[in-house]
Order: sequence, then C-alpha cells, then structure tokens
Amino acid sequence: MRYIKPQYYDTFKCTADKCPDTCCAGWQIMIDEDSLKRYESVTGEFGERLKHSIDWSEGSFLQKCGRCAMLNDRNLCDLVIACGEESLCETCNRYPRHIEEFEGLREYSLSISCPVAAEIVLGCEEPLSLMEEEDESEDPLWEEFEDFDFLLFTKLEDAREVIFKLIQQNETASLEKFMQEILKFAGEMQACVDEDRVFDVDAVIQAFAKLHEDAALGETAATCDEEKRFYRLKDSFSILYSLERMQPEWTEVLDETWDTLYADGFEQYQKLRTRFLQQYGEGGNMQREWHVFQRNLLMFFLYTYFCGAVYDDWIYSKVALSVFSVIFVQEFVMCRYILADNIIDKHEWVQLAYRYAREVEHSDDNLNLLEEWLQNENG
Ligand code: SF4
Repeated sequence: MRYIKPQYYDTFKCTADKCPDTCCAGWQIMIDEDSLKRYESVTGEFGERLKHSIDWSEGSFLQKCGRCAMLNDRNLCDLVIACGEESLCETCNRYPRHIEEFEGLREYSLSISCPVAAEIVLGCEEPLSLMEEEDESEDPLWEEFEDFDFLLFTKLEDAREVIFKLIQQNETASLEKFMQEILKFAGEMQACVDEDRVFDVDAVIQAFAKLHEDAALGETAATCDEEKRFYRLKDSFSILYSLERMQPEWTEVLDETWDTLYADGFEQYQKLRTRFLQQYGEGGNMQREWHVFQRNLLMFFLYTYFCGAVYDDWIYSKVALSVFSVIFVQEFVMCRYILADNIIDKHEWVQLAYRYAREVEHSDDNLNLLEEWLQNENG
C-alpha cells in the first residue's frame, strides 16, 4: 500500500477556541456508525443532551442557528469537554485532513476551508512536494476497486507530475498564461479518454512537457484577449451566485465583487486591474508573494482533485475547477485591494481563499454543479 502526503501535512494543529472561525457551523456534520453506537450508550444528564443533539434518521448532529448543537458559546465542543477528544466522530476527528482513496494508494491533504490549514498550505514558501511511503499491507478497500481503471490512473498521475514539475521549474513565469496551457492540455487528454484512445494520453503528456522544455513556462501560450477575459469572468460570475450558501455572509463578498469589478463595464474593470497589477503583476512590490500564493492555490486544487478523474473520466473539469478557483480568488482579492485603497495583507488573501473553499468544498451539490458546468464549457 502506498501513502502520499504533502510536506506540511503533519504540522497542522487545530487551534480550537483560538480559531478565527469554526468548522462546527454552516454545514451538516455526519456521524459514522461506530460513533452513533457510542453516543447512544452515553448515560446521565450529558447523555440525554447528546441524544437530543443528534438527528438519528440522518445520522448527523443537529444545529442551532446554523451551529452544531455541541458547540458552546466559547466555540469549544461540549462533547470533547464531557467525554474527551477520543469521543469525536470520524468527521470531526479527521477535519481538515482529507483522504482520497485509490487502488493501493491513499492520498492525504489538508483542506484549505480551515483557516489554520489554509495559512499552512497557501503560505508555504516552497512549492508543494509529495512525500511517499510504502508498506507491505494489503489495501483494506481492495474489494471496492473491482472496476478501478488502473491504466487511466497511471496516466493521470503522470500528467499531474509533469504539471507540478513545470510549475516548480518556472517559478517566475506567468501563472495566468500557464493556466491557459493546462486547460488546453486537459482538453486534449479529455478527448483521448472520450474517444477511447487512453494509450494516446502518453503522447499528449510528452508533447505538453516538450512544449515547455526550453521555453519559460507560459511563453508559448496565446496572449489572452483582455476584453474577452472580462466578459468570460462576468458571465461565469453567475455560477457563483447560483451555488448553495454555506455561510450567508458570503453573499456580501459576491455582491461587493460584482459591484466593484463588473457592474461598470470593461473599461472601468481594466483601469482597476491595471492598478492591481502595478503591485501584484510583473515588477510590482507584491509580485513574488502573490505568485507563491497563487501557485500554492493552483497546486492545492490540482493535487486534491485531479486524479479523482479516474472515477468519472472528467479530466477537463478537474483542471478547470483549479483554474477557476485561482482566478476567482484573485478577483476577490483584487476587489478588496481596490476597496481598501491598496492596503491589504497576506492574511486577507488567505481568508478570502478559505471562505471560497468553504463555499465550494463543504457542499457536494456545489462541487458537482460547478464541475458539471465547467465540464460542459469544454463542449
Ligand atoms: S476550522 Fe480548523 S482550526 Fe478552526 S476549529 Fe475547525 S479544525 Fe480547528
């Protein structure tokens, strides 16, 4: 069995009541069978309260005003206080650690919807590096992998490795252009899979790697037409409005971004973007730090989602989700930068990214809707 985790994975520690937010509000916390059985047997006054804090038909904690019924006013968990950390259900015990299961491989990541994990993942100076371990144990889930497409999975792993290598080799190049390239690359891989030509994926990967072999990353990409870019972003914004809200305050972020960036048309947008890029673009004071943040965000989404295409064959949408997320987090940051009259620090970038991730990653419906829309965009 192989195990892969990012270099910073083990550094995460929950800050509980010191956390600037809480992960125990705004979403349904599902409880695993074993924990439900344990909770059923808790006795006394607390046992009664616990039993009345669970939706037994759904197998989840009940909520009061959107907060878990076990969360107290100090943002501490009363279940932990009464019964100890070992009493936590699997969801609470694991979060923000995330596991993707593949045949003979388990990939660990930290979800950036947790503000503390987001600081670790997005603030990391070094690019994502994957630590691999292997042991002799059998995959405990082997029976579930009867239809696992191992051939496609190896191609996906190879493609992700090439993308990561290129990002690492070209630390100073434009990510925006590179993102156009990986979308094109994903579209070509998608065509191979759709047309039952999985063996051709090798040639597509080699051609993509070769394209960037001598040139700096992104140099070969087509120049993006700024006006087209504006209208594409403006049109795409409606999909963000259509997602289910995990936190009602998120609507304010969408409204202020719409009003500030898109409502007054292309020329006004371009003026604001030029102002933003003077600081964050080539030659700007924030260029290096901004590049590191965006690179980390892109690698996070690709690492977490790309190889999952083995289960649904949706390669393009996984890359498109990563690119879409980087671009819209940039738009939210740009909006804040304009509204704050050019003063915004790195923690605010991280805050916008974790709040975005919370909206997208804490709801399967949102994730599916976004992916479906992005996959259809590919035609
Ligand atoms: S969001 Fe992260 S740091 Fe905050 S309480 Fe949850 S796990 Fe802990």
